[in-house]
Amino acid sequence: MSSHRGGTADLHRSNFHDELCSRAQPPTICTWRSDMIDQDKAASRPMAVAAALTGRSIDDMAFHEQLVVLTGELRALRTPNGRWIFVDAVRLLLRVAGKLLIDIPEGLDDLTQEVRQICETCYVRQQPTIRIGQLDSDLSDAKAILNIGCQPRSGAPCVSVSANGWLCRATSGPASLDGDFSQANPISSLFAASIGVSEVFKRLIEMSDDISPPIENMTFSLFDHSDDPGDIGPTLPSTLEIPNTLLVGGGAIGSGVALLAAQLALRGKLHVVDKQQYADENMGTCVLMERNGWSKRGKAARLAEWISDNGSATASGERDFIADAASRETCQALAPSVVINGLDDVVARHDAQMLWPDIILDGGINNLGAAVVQHRLDNLGKACLRCTFKLPEVDTHAMQADLTGLDIRALIEPGRQLTAEDLESAAPDKRERLRKQMSEGKTICSIVSEAAMARLGVNLDAEFRPSVPFVATAAASLVMAEFAKYLLNPSAAYHQTTVFGSLFLGATSSARINRAADPSCLCVIHRETILSSKVRLRQHLEV
Ligand SMILES: [Zn+2]
Repeated sequence: MSSHRGGTADLHRSNFHDELCSRAQPPTICTWRSDMIDQDKAASRPMAVAAALTGRSIDDMAFHEQLVVLTGELRALRTPNGRWIFVDAVRLLLRVAGKLLIDIPEGLDDLTQEVRQICETCYVRQQPTIRIGQLDSDLSDAKAILNIGCQPRSGAPCVSVSANGWLCRATSGPASLDGDFSQANPISSLFAASIGVSEVFKRLIEMSDDISPPIENMTFSLFDHSDDPGDIGPTLPSTLEIPNTLLVGGGAIGSGVALLAAQLALRGKLHVVDKQQYADENMGTCVLMERNGWSKRGKAARLAEWISDNGSATASGERDFIADAASRETCQALAPSVVINGLDDVVARHDAQMLWPDIILDGGINNLGAAVVQHRLDNLGKACLRCTFKLPEVDTHAMQADLTGLDIRALIEPGRQLTAEDLESAAPDKRERLRKQMSEGKTICSIVSEAAMARLGVNLDAEFRPSVPFVATAAASLVMAEFAKYLLNPSAAYHQTTVFGSLFLGATSSARINRAADPSCLCVIHRETILSSKVRLRQHLEV
């Protein structure tokens, strides 16, 4: 299978792949101590979003001194939806709140035990305080309160959220929400938790009400993306059989997908591919990441392990670029019918589309917005991911010059060794490193590879992206809603792109569009070849 590649990842592909493999083996032995999570790194991405949204730098210490309370109503927490929202909210709040107080009603021993276990394994700064049966306590010290239920707390900075069927509801206003939680659905539940934690974050960063007022009486359907409060959508079966599925990306969105894969009790093969390993930064954005046994482990293998331990799917993981993994044995044997992307770069999206699965679902995020883009092979006319996400124009030599500091005239002779003349014409801030590499007899080619490695794996600042965990879980909810709808009825109408523009603004920022295919794209030009090769592959695998 051919595949377009580009960008930094293209630089001396075989060297880079060999390096990745040698670093990935033998398997890491998990002896990481709990004090090894760097709190500043864990907070760095959410803090960067806070600064971007408010236009001012945030005092990290003061931010994390603010008290956040999570509570819930007994009637709600006795339902599957109430439990899912509560547990999902714990997982998310641990990553954005410094001081967390969790109030649980009496008589919910299983929920309490699960919450305690999550708090012990996932806290970042300090373990939350867990109280039982003290819901009437004074909460006037709280900067924000998240209530899983329908009753508002007048005069308190409180948001209530609920979920029933495919509907998610949220309000920070004075009126009660619909209190029906009866139709179980983990997708709308995760979306409700995401909106609830978003409202908490809004208060923690003290967003102006003029720009982002508190959400009041929001209703949003993950089934038809409407705000019709009367239609809760069809019931979900207790388990869902999935065709062979590939999850590309084990970061923030991929973690939300894995969480829902477990909660939906998906059954079937689920293979995860990701080229990176978890770092402390991911603790602030990935909803499942724990203090021990995650940082410095390959994302794909670790996430697959979590799915196997907590869900019903047969999960496996592979550390690689998707373009390379696609041609290897595991993906070839899997021949995935479904591909789910949780990616942040266009090249990988193009590479994943080249698998031409029956359906590809792509989750995307920015600071506050979440989106799902999908392409189905049996549909004529709607854009694929290659039409939707355009590759940036890349000048390879200019990019290599930027990475290494070398003059472009040196870069056109990759096979020769570095010389003193190269050093003289190099960027001053890179000369010291280049001098050392010259003394080691390095070639131009290997210097470019090392610089690419540094950018991808070591120098995390170069890869730094602001991000908050609750936007990623909202994107995962949108993606898995489309997946579940496809499994329930593959021939039902769908939209090529669904956007939830801002979690701060709520359902009014949602939109759906059908982007048309680009007539010059491979999905149009080679459509017949793609379809016939898929048929041949299936026949081959069935023999
Ligand atoms: Zn296309």
